[in-house]
Amino acid sequence: MKSLWNDSDAAQYQGDLDLRVYTSRLLGQDPSLVLHGGGNTSVKITETNLVGDEEEILYVKGSGWDLETIEAAGFAPVRMAHLLKLAKLQSLSDPQMVNELKTQMTNAAAPSPSVETILHATLPYKYVDHTHADAIVSITNTAEGEQRIRSLYGDTVVIIPYVMPGFDLARLCAQRFAAEAHDNTLGMVLMNHGIFSFADSAQLAYQRMIDLVTLAEDYLASKGAWEVPPATAQPSKASIRGSMAALRQDISRVAGFPMILAHQNNNKGLAFAQHPEVSSLSQQGPATPDHVIRTKSTPMLDRDTDGFARHYKEYFDTHAPHAKQPKTMLDPAPRVVLDPELGLCTVGRSAKDAGISADIYDHTIDVILRATALGGFKALPAKDLFDMEYWDLEQAKLNKSGAPPVFAGEVALITGAASGIGKACVEAMLKRGAAVIALDINADITTLHPRKDYCGIPCDISDKEQLNSALETGIKAFGGLDMLVLNAGVFPGGKRIACLEDDEWHQVLKVNLDANLALMRQCHPLLKLAPRNGRVLIMGSKNVLAPGPGAAAYSASKAALIQLMRIAALEWADDGIRINALHPDAVFDTAIWTDEVLAARAAHYGMSVDDYKRKNLLKTEIRSQDVAELAAEMCGPLFAKTTAAQVPIDGGNERVI
Ligand code: ZN
Repeated sequence: MKSLWNDSDAAQYQGDLDLRVYTSRLLGQDPSLVLHGGGNTSVKITETNLVGDEEEILYVKGSGWDLETIEAAGFAPVRMAHLLKLAKLQSLSDPQMVNELKTQMTNAAAPSPSVETILHATLPYKYVDHTHADAIVSITNTAEGEQRIRSLYGDTVVIIPYVMPGFDLARLCAQRFAAEAHDNTLGMVLMNHGIFSFADSAQLAYQRMIDLVTLAEDYLASKGAWEVPPATAQPSKASIRGSMAALRQDISRVAGFPMILAHQNNNKGLAFAQHPEVSSLSQQGPATPDHVIRTKSTPMLDRDTDGFARHYKEYFDTHAPHAKQPKTMLDPAPRVVLDPELGLCTVGRSAKDAGISADIYDHTIDVILRATALGGFKALPAKDLFDMEYWDLEQAKLNKSGAPPVFAGEVALITGAASGIGKACVEAMLKRGAAVIALDINADITTLHPRKDYCGIPCDISDKEQLNSALETGIKAFGGLDMLVLNAGVFPGGKRIACLEDDEWHQVLKVNLDANLALMRQCHPLLKLAPRNGRVLIMGSKNVLAPGPGAAAYSASKAALIQLMRIAALEWADDGIRINALHPDAVFDTAIWTDEVLAARAAHYGMSVDDYKRKNLLKTEIRSQDVAELAAEMCGPLFAKTTAAQVPIDGGNERVI
């Protein structure tokens, strides 16, 4: 493990708190030390308050901040004198502790102090660093973990047996530290949890962390337990989207709301899922208590030729009863699925959340394999795991986010998504919390939204192979499909029937009609498995209701598409799938309508561009965004009882009316 300390960088951080920021970020940059908001750091500073009193303040990492990107404002200032008095109490419940920490802050706007605040306060050093280093948890999660740590560090560290984070742990650490620490003490190892280092300078505390963890890594290497190559795995089946969508439906049912199921496409996850002892290894709990919910996985189940989904179903049926759980508890759905065919999949209320679980489980696999190589992974007894899972503070941390957006955990597929109405539909869906699979023939679709809940795939939807592979990629990313927006279409230049060639006619029907039929056929089995029922939105056209001369192929294709929608509404109602259409007209903020084309059309009617844009009864301009917002709403709860509806969005048109 390399020290990232750099003298010239460090020189830019002046003052005790700034240096605390600097070395916290150094720790945060190494995912083998801390991951996603894990770990915490502190500094003790003496300050004069408003009324002229000097007081010692503990600046400790606040909740919601990540060490990698923390700023001075991410540290919560808490009065040391009170913390030291609290540490002497016989007991303090979690809610009491949270209250005491909050009410002893000197800045009401600061974030909530870490649950390990009292522990930081009791360590008599200016700088205290705490990580859940992979190497430390690998060694401490083995049967002879404590002896190994003792032989590795001698008496330079104080060893603390496992206690759940909170007041009891802080109290125990304070007692052990007072009894065992001496001038050469460099750190403190918490069994099945992590490590603390401390010193009176930021640099030395950080350096001690690096040195202690390096010793642990070297120890593992010397036992052949550091570089644990992943076994080669049997590749998964060519198409797993059906299996994933069925599994996602089961998981969502257990959770009580739709969840994202993200396939982790790597050999490491697949090899671990196929490990002969994965059932026991994966059910022993997390490597560190911070990860208890993130690493909650399904047990491996026997399977037969019926496929696997049924087995999970049985398991979930017996483990899901919501009635057993108090309302404040987190849903009982697993966050990690290990399946020999699917490999490693992670679960979350959002794609971002599923991604965090994936990062954490990636390290958990390393820890488990290293501990196994060292002599056997041995996590905590079931009682401790249970306590951890139902731990007040952990639950509060995960439940605090308030009401989720309307499409949280759901997946929308949108075609023709790189520009115009399709692009606006992507934004409307993302805004409502859906993960989006965006297809477009334009390769720019890949990079349109660099975020976890967006999967842009270049695809010519009239090409069956491309469509099949795009669906596989999209469903692997998010686990299923809830909403389908059929927006892609072509609008060729005007041509009267007398000169319309067969090729042109067929070309338009191929994209506007045939491709949408193929999409509907391929997506039907996925939409059937949508946890809150599938929805389809068809982008029609004013031309369906009020055609004009010169657009035979376009108008006929859209009219046939609407007829297809009406048949689908009849056929799919039993599957709970509803399908509705929008008929937009005169939407000019799209790629086809350049300023020149628009000016020419306006001139043709002897109108100004502005008047031409509002050439409707309400004299209003129809923008892509207006159409997209309505499209999204029609997939939402307001339209839950409507199917086969055709809604114009055209500002009012006499011929349509
Ligand atoms: Zn910790």
